[in-house]
Amino acid sequence: MQLLNYINGNLQPALSGQWLDNINPATGNVFSYIPDSDAADVELAYQAAKKAFVTWSKTPIQERFNVMMRIVAEIEKRFEELALAETTDNGKPLWLSKRVDIPRAADNFRFYAQAITQFASETHDMGETGLNYTLRRPIGVVGAISPWNLPLYLFTWKIAPAIAAGNTVVAKPSEVTPLTAYLLSEICIAAGLPAGVLNIVHGTGPNVGEPIVVHKDIPVITFTGSTGVGKRIATLVAPMFKKLSLEMGGKNPNIIFADCEYEQTVKGSVRAAFTNQGQICLCGSRILVEKSIYDQFVADFVTETLTYKVGNPLEDGSKVGAIVSKVQLEKDLEYIEIAKQEGGTILCGGKRPDNLPADCENGYFLAPTVITGLDYNCRVNQEEIFGPIVTIQPFETEEEALMIANSTTYGLAATIWTSNLKKAHRVAANVHSGIIWINDWLVRDLRTPFGGMKQSGVGREGGFDALRFFTEEKNVFIRL
Ligand code: NAD
Repeated sequence: MQLLNYINGNLQPALSGQWLDNINPATGNVFSYIPDSDAADVELAYQAAKKAFVTWSKTPIQERFNVMMRIVAEIEKRFEELALAETTDNGKPLWLSKRVDIPRAADNFRFYAQAITQFASETHDMGETGLNYTLRRPIGVVGAISPWNLPLYLFTWKIAPAIAAGNTVVAKPSEVTPLTAYLLSEICIAAGLPAGVLNIVHGTGPNVGEPIVVHKDIPVITFTGSTGVGKRIATLVAPMFKKLSLEMGGKNPNIIFADCEYEQTVKGSVRAAFTNQGQICLCGSRILVEKSIYDQFVADFVTETLTYKVGNPLEDGSKVGAIVSKVQLEKDLEYIEIAKQEGGTILCGGKRPDNLPADCENGYFLAPTVITGLDYNCRVNQEEIFGPIVTIQPFETEEEALMIANSTTYGLAATIWTSNLKKAHRVAANVHSGIIWINDWLVRDLRTPFGGMKQSGVGREGGFDALRFFTEEKNVFIRL
């Protein structure tokens, strides 16, 4: 199977005629080929987007709404195929693709199709002097770059608000998981999205991502991925003064007080640790537990973790699937070695699980791994791993919990478990994270601001924040 770029409404190979392998991480086999595009393909995509912007930016909101809702209908029509594609490409369990990834992709288009019909701007009345009103207009061609962990979910989370607001887009999915982005191009054609409104260019970060980032006529860049790549993008675009949104890494604290609702906390914390093989930027990978319940919690957390069956992602019983790539698996294993060198104790996992089915023999698997005995400021507790690996650390006081929670360069998400409401509010206000859950994890409302502090992010996605980002504001004063 050869995937194709989507440029100016057409499906086409890279101009170079080169291809990259696309691997199924559960089997280790190449199952499709991706266009190995470069700056020349990006330029074609840009030209198509520029041309389409003239009409799309003036297309009435109701018409944009109609097209986007047809995309929703097409996603829902091809639901089973999309879920299977996501799982084959990424290694995540099929039940998860069906429950989270694909429904959310449809929701992203539905939400922003509706949100644009509710979007408004302000007037600032100066009485007899005059009146200010704010215009919010689409900006132009948006460059969108997304990662592999929630492929279609995050790709559409950028595209939907950008096109709803009247921009056109040149988008690059991760080369590790490009399949559902390719299917999205077929879906957009079937839904009648005008040519050039969305262009999808496949390929590597350096060959496709960077030409988008440094393109002199693409004024807006929205990126989700690692802090390292985000830093490089920020460096490249700073002298170009582009509008930039960065959603980057996390090292999220999961803070557990002795007065929590215990069983719910244990189950919730294991879910926050290992869902999607721990490959969600929001996963709670540093578990901080109040000392009085620490020993009991560690024992019960490991017991619950051992119920998480690792297996073929296509099988219903597999709670945990394959790690996305050989590179990521090697990174995970390296951090397990570092943890041992740093004096950590591996309580479970740490290696490939036993009893994997024969067809997964060459796949990339790692048993959920729980580590204790590490200092809060060691590498394993400070650096993002992005795999099914968590540490558990004790704390004595609320102050100490906050100190440890805030000790990393990241600030994306935090979870707090307590039945003391005052404490919950106090800790939430003092944790340096953009997203806080109290007594739950990964509850999402698309209207809320989404993003991180410190080296986890710049700007916020979600709700009207995204529509503000994808529009240029202009204040107009009129003397009365
Ligand atoms: P990555 O940074 O390696 O790649 C992300 C995207 O950037 C890919 O499409 C890649 O091809 C592209 N890219 C790579 N080099 C580039 C360059 N020089 N110029 C332009 N584009 C380039 O990240 P990944 O490994 O795909 O994803 C995992 C990371 O994403 C983790 O750090 C995770 O925390 C983060 N993430 C963050 C969020 C969030 O909302 N904050 C959500 C999901 C994932």
